Amino acid sequence: MARQRIVVIEDEPDILAFIDYNLAREGFAVSSAADGEAGLRLVRREKPDLVVLDLLLPGLDGIEVCRRLKADPATRNLPIIMVTAKGEESDVVLGLGVGADDYVTKPFSPKELIARIRAVLRRSAMAGAEPPAGRLVYGGVVIDPTRHEVRVDGNGVPFTATELRLLHVLASSPGRVFTRDQLVPRVIGNGAVVIDRNIDVHVRAIRKKLGPYRYLIETVRGVGYRFHDAEASAEPA
Ligand code: CA
Repeated sequence: MARQRIVVIEDEPDILAFIDYNLAREGFAVSSAADGEAGLRLVRREKPDLVVLDLLLPGLDGIEVCRRLKADPATRNLPIIMVTAKGEESDVVLGLGVGADDYVTKPFSPKELIARIRAVLRRSAMAGAEPPAGRLVYGGVVIDPTRHEVRVDGNGVPFTATELRLLHVLASSPGRVFTRDQLVPRVIGNGAVVIDRNIDVHVRAIRKKLGPYRYLIETVRGVGYRFHDAEASAEPA
């Protein structure tokens, strides 16, 4: 298999060198650009498997770069991991809203970055396959939307239609962070006439019903929610 190619767009030389070094050591082919315009050109030329994109860039900022990549059919499905500054959750929400797949917050460890990259590449490889409409099994939890059924340690637990959809959306992409704004349209089904838009309330109810498996739904502070990714957390933090 050819080496997976990653484009890094980052203007701070130290951070760029740190990312370059660690990705190359993991066997990725890395190329980099120091501003948004150059980054877009590089992506078009290199056709990478994934982009690591700093948000705070001179000229075109990361949000605009992300928006343009997602607007172009040639790069629409290209996974993007944003690099954000600590305490800038609003940037994260904005970035996820324009289609970024995940993010890391400075300062981050090489292991953290690699784990996020591998998780996103894994999800993107699966995305082409089949939309997971069917049964999902995590530990003692079985989610079966077709039969409108959730079982916890073998026991059927009553879920409302909204709760079931919400759980299924999260569980279909383990490790992916969803903002509340992203969850609402996904949870409103064809059949649903009215749903409570307060995602937090539904999450609270779902966790209660999951009992010992409540940890499966993780809160990402200031951003949203994600389903526990056993594979990503198996790697030492
Ligand atoms: Ca920067």
